[in-house]
Amino acid sequence: MKSSFDVVVIGAGVAGMTAAIYLKRANISVAIIESTAPGGQLNRINNIDNYPGVLSIDGPSLAFNVFSQMQELNVPYIYGNVVKIVKGKEYGIVTNKEEILCKSIIIATGRKPIETGLDIEKKLLGNGISYCSICDGNLYKDKIVAVYTNNEEGIEEAKYLSNICSKVYIVGVKGSNKNNIEYYDNKIDDIKEKDGRIESIILDNKNIKIDGLFVLLGSYPSTEFIDLKKHDDYIMVNQDMHTSEEGIYACGDVIFKGLYQVSTAVGEAATAANSAIKYINNRE
Ligand SMILES: Cc1cc2nc3c(=O)[nH]c(=O)nc-3n(C[C@H](O)[C@H](O)[C@H](O)COP(=O)(O)OP(=O)(O)OC[C@H]3O[C@@H](n4cnc5c(N)ncnc54)[C@H](O)[C@@H]3O)c2cc1C
Repeated sequence: MKSSFDVVVIGAGVAGMTAAIYLKRANISVAIIESTAPGGQLNRINNIDNYPGVLSIDGPSLAFNVFSQMQELNVPYIYGNVVKIVKGKEYGIVTNKEEILCKSIIIATGRKPIETGLDIEKKLLGNGISYCSICDGNLYKDKIVAVYTNNEEGIEEAKYLSNICSKVYIVGVKGSNKNNIEYYDNKIDDIKEKDGRIESIILDNKNIKIDGLFVLLGSYPSTEFIDLKKHDDYIMVNQDMHTSEEGIYACGDVIFKGLYQVSTAVGEAATAANSAIKYINNRE
């Protein structure tokens, strides 16, 4: 038999977990679905210094605190990747494992890293290729890495890596003057492997040997599983976090907005949860 809830939150980043906490505290039947570990992008942050009331905290610890708060409320945590939403009398949320029914949905699926587009990238993910210096940088202590980027955040992550690694190549953009950082103003043409691990990157026929490659080309919203009004793939919402579909709300980095931060994500999540609570209460 399919499980059924009043509200299902998709995505257990800070936005989704906040929404689930608000819903459960209002005694609404709610579950959260997540395709990986809880915390989302929080797991990529070294230090958060701009979240009010918390002097300084590393992202994974903040993620753990919010997850613990949600677990204390006994919110069911369903592991699965949502691939489709089926519209009907109730919504059917189809994951790679099952279908879950609900009356209302909160989408909090955030953003994913942009890939290089090279076929070998997926094969070497976790074997020399990473999207997160904070998560994996320590694996490359005193080793040689490359950072493939086109943005400020990527430069910041390269600086972070330069304190751990013996050498950091930044490929794609210039931006720091540390003596163990070297630049290449090219794109990566190919990636070579040896025994299932990355061995080198090819730039204009130049072969550069590395131990690890950090692909930091920015991100895009995870919204491919649902057909809603969007702008550049970001979900459009009104001030109540209502999407273009009845009973479906969205919050956090997945929505089209001006500022993508933890503080904005949790505020929108509280609003989305409150809208879903009103929707459920008025429906019955
Ligand atoms: C390097 C870096 C540094 C940052 N520094 C700061 C900072 O100092 N201060 C600050 O305020 N903000 C910072 N941010 C921004 C902040 O991390 C984000 O705004 C916030 O974490 C977004 O949370 P979210 O819950 O909306 O999305 P996410 O954290 O992206 O969470 C979305 C979750 O949904 C899951 N998901 C996606 N698709 C599916 C699917 N189909 N099925 C099931 N689950 C799915 C994902 O696995 C993920 O766990 C930083 C971000 C980065 C990347």
